[in-house]
Amino acid sequence: MLEDKDRIFTNLYGFGDRSLKGARARGNWDGTKAIIDKGRDWIIAEMKASGLRGRGGAGFPTGLKWSFMPKTVDPKRPHYLVINADESEPGTCKDREIMRNDPHTLVEGALIASFAMGAHACYIYVRGEYIQERERLEAAVDEAYEARLIGKDNIHGWPFDLYVHHGAGAYICGEETAMLESLEGKKGMPRMKPPFPAGMGLYGSPTTVNNVESIAVAPTILRRGASWFTSFGAPNNFGTKVFCVSGHVNKPCNVEEAMSIPFRELIDKHCGGVRGGWDNLLAVIPGGASVRLVPAAEIIDCPMDFDSLAKLKSGLGTAAAIVMDKSTDIIRAIARLSYFYKHESCGQCTPCREGAGWMWRVMERMVQGRAQKREIDMLLDVTKQVEGHTICALGDAAAWPIQGLIAHFRPEIERRIDQYAANPASEPLRAAAE
Ligand code: SF4
Repeated sequence: MLEDKDRIFTNLYGFGDRSLKGARARGNWDGTKAIIDKGRDWIIAEMKASGLRGRGGAGFPTGLKWSFMPKTVDPKRPHYLVINADESEPGTCKDREIMRNDPHTLVEGALIASFAMGAHACYIYVRGEYIQERERLEAAVDEAYEARLIGKDNIHGWPFDLYVHHGAGAYICGEETAMLESLEGKKGMPRMKPPFPAGMGLYGSPTTVNNVESIAVAPTILRRGASWFTSFGAPNNFGTKVFCVSGHVNKPCNVEEAMSIPFRELIDKHCGGVRGGWDNLLAVIPGGASVRLVPAAEIIDCPMDFDSLAKLKSGLGTAAAIVMDKSTDIIRAIARLSYFYKHESCGQCTPCREGAGWMWRVMERMVQGRAQKREIDMLLDVTKQVEGHTICALGDAAAWPIQGLIAHFRPEIERRIDQYAANPASEPLRAAAE
């Protein structure tokens, strides 16, 4: 188990003082100038050496992403850092705690990351529903300006402005290019890539978009060194990670743990075990709603990291584990996610706009068993036609939960179809239909 001395977020639960005074007492803003004085190349090299992979879901190496920004800054095209705080993935609630309780980790990280990429301005795009989070973050930004930690003439010698932008509540604005469109005042619709944001991002200028947690961990990594960070987790999956555990555990929680902790250990040590015991576990969606579910037998001893979960054809995503015990109507649970993706599709490309709605409608019938068995393969086929054929990853996110359901729970779907065929008015099926 990760020891307290190795936790990056030491006020994750808000028991301490979240103000600048409290943050300083916990070690934030300590030696920031010395880090900046080591220069841009040193920071990027150290971030690369730390092996940090983006904490927003895709797991792309953060240091490498920073290195994609042009080395020299064209005065007509200033560089920007955009921090993705539009945390809207069902089950995910980690950035929320960072912004409400440990906001100075993010403000300090924003300064250092912006310096490393030659950016004098950074925008934090906060999810529309996160009112308190935005207020607390703004208070931290104001404190940092007042103490001249950031601003045009700050004590670190790198002129830097930090803007908090409040979104309007659209899930799709969490997609990096839709976020840039939204920041520019347009409808939040994803752009075609290439060009990638590092070449042409916000206002047509080089831009890097990073998740809140990826930026907030950077100062501690640079203070304590890449080798400290790589002492946790497994090769290619280094560091610590905030896990969000929800669903049928005795004590749902957010907790910072070492990457690659086995699922059973994570749940037993921090969540009081699975409701009704481990034999009562049905399945887990390990990385936020958009990854494929994993049945109990496969997940119990699986290390919680990018590569181990990818081997199970699922993913770590945002490390938001949704735990489902045997009382779960698994078909209904996935149908609810299908509704979410249908609702959040921006409608720009046909496979997603039409496919997400079509898949949801079929899923709703399957909840009741009001379908033909041949439709299971037809549904699977449609998920394959949506997957990889859209502008952004929302199409994949709509397809993957259904693929996971069919891969692992086809007998349950068939059983329900048989049950409906035998008795369309049976009580459980009527309940499912309501
Ligand atoms: Fe919009 Fe869906 Fe296409 Fe993404 S995949 S651009 S959400 S229609």
